[in-house]
Amino acid sequence: MEKQGFRKNLINIEPYVAGEQPKSDNIIKLNANENAYPPSPMVGMAIAEFDSSVLRKYPDFSAEPLKSELAAYYGLTPGRVFVGNGSDDVLAAAFRAFFNGDEPILYPDVTYSFYPVWCDILKIPYKTIPLKDDFTIDVADYKIKNGGIIFPNPNAPTSIALDKNKITELLDANRDVIVVIDETYIDFGGESCVDLLDKYDNLVLTRTFSKSRSLAGMRLGFAMGSEELISYMNAVKDSYNSYPVDAVAIAAGCAAVKDDKYFKDTISKLVSTRERLIKEFDALGFETAPSAANFIFTRHDKFSAKEIFAFLREKGIYVRYFNKPRIDNYLRITVGTDEETDKLISAVKELIN
Ligand code: PMP
Repeated sequence: MEKQGFRKNLINIEPYVAGEQPKSDNIIKLNANENAYPPSPMVGMAIAEFDSSVLRKYPDFSAEPLKSELAAYYGLTPGRVFVGNGSDDVLAAAFRAFFNGDEPILYPDVTYSFYPVWCDILKIPYKTIPLKDDFTIDVADYKIKNGGIIFPNPNAPTSIALDKNKITELLDANRDVIVVIDETYIDFGGESCVDLLDKYDNLVLTRTFSKSRSLAGMRLGFAMGSEELISYMNAVKDSYNSYPVDAVAIAAGCAAVKDDKYFKDTISKLVSTRERLIKEFDALGFETAPSAANFIFTRHDKFSAKEIFAFLREKGIYVRYFNKPRIDNYLRITVGTDEETDKLISAVKELIN
């Protein structure tokens, strides 16, 4: 119904809905792609040793220690790193800074559901490009006039990564617009485009500490690009909140980046659990996309996604079900610990047998 009076000026958006946060501790929570393992012990130490008297002062407004740590890790200069409160905050700054043209921006029809929300809020015109039937991105579809491109690699909720040579093809065809690749899940299997940043000055990568670095509760994300593009993101950020990352988060983030062994060990544990889960699910009649992420995207040949979702929920296992076109018979399931995965598999067996 058309809104009347002062209500006609209210914002018209369909709000983003995050995965449910259960109240009970007994739930196996596989619905928000959080890391199954805690952050590095060095993060705990950094927080325990944090001198709370410094909280009297504002944090370093540019998060310089963290930018320097990240820059050194990825072989960039600190001026090519942007830091924000989780990659949602980073992506919001990117949308504001880069997508100001009249042509529609492009992104896949099945993708991270925050993109349409930002387009609506910021009144950015957009066009969704359907994924192929197997849920892959066909870069040929992105060779049309546009005002910018964004997609996650690997994509969410499909978990499928796009080959680097395909990404280069997309970038070669789109030199006049900014291309943002949301690398939220890249550490779990895809090939990062960090090394393409020098060749493509219109490329920006967004990253997070929420997934591979187990810090979803801390809210830390970052972007990498040319000094020029990063300066535009900083200008946007400084214009609405000039102190985005708090002092404790800066210390925790630095500690997380320093502990590279823990980071790699955690990823390798999750990747092997993921491959075991896919194999066991195959044997139970599931069809699962080739995952390069810390979650799987799967459907069953006899039981509907909605049915499996409801059954697992009853058993105290939360997974993600999307009541949306094309994907309403799929479940997105976060890879848990080995123990959680065993419980998930037993619960599914109970339903199927
Ligand atoms: N991008 C994608 C594709 C995601 O799935 C998520 C997680 N919801 C995010 C960005 C945001 O993650 P965060 O804000 O925790 O960094």
